[in-house]
Amino acid sequence: MNIALRIGDPLSEAPAVNREKLEEIFEDIRNHQLFDHELHGCLNCGICTATCPSAHYYDYSPREIVQLLLTENLEGIYDAMQEKIWACAQCYTCAARCPFHNSPGGLIMILRETAIKHGMQSAKDVLKPYTRVLMKVISTGNQLAPNMITPDAFADWGPNIAKVKAPLKVLRKAIPMPTMHTMDTAWEINIKTSIELYTIWEATGVLGQLETIDPNLFDVVTDLMDEKRDEYEEWLEEQEG
Ligand code: SF4
Ligand code: SF4
Repeated sequence: MNIALRIGDPLSEAPAVNREKLEEIFEDIRNHQLFDHELHGCLNCGICTATCPSAHYYDYSPREIVQLLLTENLEGIYDAMQEKIWACAQCYTCAARCPFHNSPGGLIMILRETAIKHGMQSAKDVLKPYTRVLMKVISTGNQLAPNMITPDAFADWGPNIAKVKAPLKVLRKAIPMPTMHTMDTAWEINIKTSIELYTIWEATGVLGQLETIDPNLFDVVTDLMDEKRDEYEEWLEEQEG
């Protein structure tokens, strides 16, 4: 049974969305398979917020998020989903300290998934900078390659940039695993592994979420995946032949 000792009003501004939509969003949150695992009750003690690194830097409080969910404050939940839920660093310090064994960080993940599912603008804005990363992972299986680490690309490293002036190509050759002798990717990825990853994304609904958030990127990504699958089919035929 959930226990709520509510102290103060968490949020006040009502969002511009009708009641039916708010209820639909809350239903999705409440029906998430992890919801009951992450929320058991709340003393409103504030330990989670006191230990939360993000709360030190942003207008964000895990205690507030837990209270909004526990008290079924639909307007407040929706409001928090427009910005605050993206402040969490997912460190789970809160989960380790909560006397009720709640996981505010886990609840944030549920709220984020729901924001993506409903195509909220906040989710689109937050995920936009990761387009390049996603493309790189899909096309190569890695997101960062040794040949991307150059002084020009990482000017913000300051004096530490000296460390990347090392002869990386030579150093990579010294690594015992041959799959890491490459400079174009962090390590060589077997094409079968990439195809399996695509299958997981499809089966778990990740691609469907991407389509909701960014249809153009979804089209590019699925084209790339089709190319890789064709490549894999050709490779299989070669093996059989
Ligand atoms: S630490 Fe736990 S009980 Fe205390 S405010 Fe946070 S979620 Fe509620
Ligand atoms: S998981 Fe999120 S809410 Fe919890 S302590 Fe870390 S940053 Fe704060």
